[in-house]
Amino acid sequence: MVEKASYKILLVEDDFINGKIVKTLLEKANYSVEWVNNGKEALEVLIPNSEKYDLVIMDIQMPIINGYEVSVNLREIGIKIPIICMTANAYSDEYIKSKEAGMNDHISKPVTKTVLFEMLDKYL
Ligand SMILES: [Mg+2]
Repeated sequence: MVEKASYKILLVEDDFINGKIVKTLLEKANYSVEWVNNGKEALEVLIPNSEKYDLVIMDIQMPIINGYEVSVNLREIGIKIPIICMTANAYSDEYIKSKEAGMNDHISKPVTKTVLFEMLDKYL
């Protein structure tokens, strides 16, 4: 089994509370986490250095550049890193749109520990 600390996750979330919750859950489980606050920062980090990260956990609704645009941009330039989005409402069309934007999967907010780690086990 690979040590979890060797997995580096980029967390992209503008909401402080949710970002803090997810980051804390991941770090308690020994994942290495870097947290940026919007889609623009995510692209700045990922475009030159995507190979440094194993997975992206990303909010959809964010200022400047939203989650859909980040994903479309990355996929257009051939970056295939797994992207899990965090959707605000399980019954909204965010999930369908996220698939269309090239994201791999989604979890609903509020994010629970069980669902989060199931998703990580699936993609890491
Ligand atoms: Mg948001």
